[in-house]
Amino acid sequence: MCRHLAYLGAPVGLHDLLFGPPHALHVQSYAPREQAHGTVNADGFGVGWYDPGHAAPLRYRRAMPIWGDSSFADAARVIRSGCVVAAVRDATPGFGADESCAQPFRGDTWLFSHNGAVADDGALADRLTAPLPSGVLDARTPVDSAPLFAHAMRLWRKGEPLGPALAAVVREARECSAGRYNLLAADGERLAATASGDTLYTLRRPHGVWIASEPLDDDPAWQRVPDGHLVTADRGGTAITAIDDEGRGTR
Ligand code: GLN
Repeated sequence: MCRHLAYLGAPVGLHDLLFGPPHALHVQSYAPREQAHGTVNADGFGVGWYDPGHAAPLRYRRAMPIWGDSSFADAARVIRSGCVVAAVRDATPGFGADESCAQPFRGDTWLFSHNGAVADDGALADRLTAPLPSGVLDARTPVDSAPLFAHAMRLWRKGEPLGPALAAVVREARECSAGRYNLLAADGERLAATASGDTLYTLRRPHGVWIASEPLDDDPAWQRVPDGHLVTADRGGTAITAIDDEGRGTR
């Protein structure tokens, strides 16, 4: 189980976001507090962020532990963004540790991250290997998370919210495979994430909202997202709904 994080709000420096808090993602890479599967997240990391000057999100990904990349820590001091997705990776056994496997994945306006593992199940594989969405290179990455991303991109229609597509992917995956499906997505203006098999939290402060595998500090305002639920957030508010209820009837 990797650890992932999304932020939406007033622009923040990437260094403040990823290295600043006492239990920041950087610390979670070597000393996670709530990680039930695996121990350290040393098999790569990735950060994606939105910039007003670019239509698609930008990314920095490496196939090494975040704690070993001091050049990134320096560069992160001068990058600011109002919407960020980041992940530190503990590779699922059977999959490689090259840079292309480091999430977040990117497609259209999306950044996407999967914490968990897909149980090796033919029924799910058949369902998820329908034709790949065109123009989404990360859908071809050789890791179990990529078919989930591909399926989310397949179900989503431009302009629609992210939550129904994520919830539908989790429902379909759970129907045929006992895996863990904590999915996280952003589009620059909205965040959505599922809790399905591992921990998930959210926090709203006056200037922004966070969604993370585990809290970044001991603020009692961190809210646990119950398993089987979807959290969605935009600049106006946060909602938590049951995955089984989300988007039913819309597709
Ligand atoms: N299965 C994904 C991978 O191999 C995510 C792993 C995880 O959550 N530890 O990258």
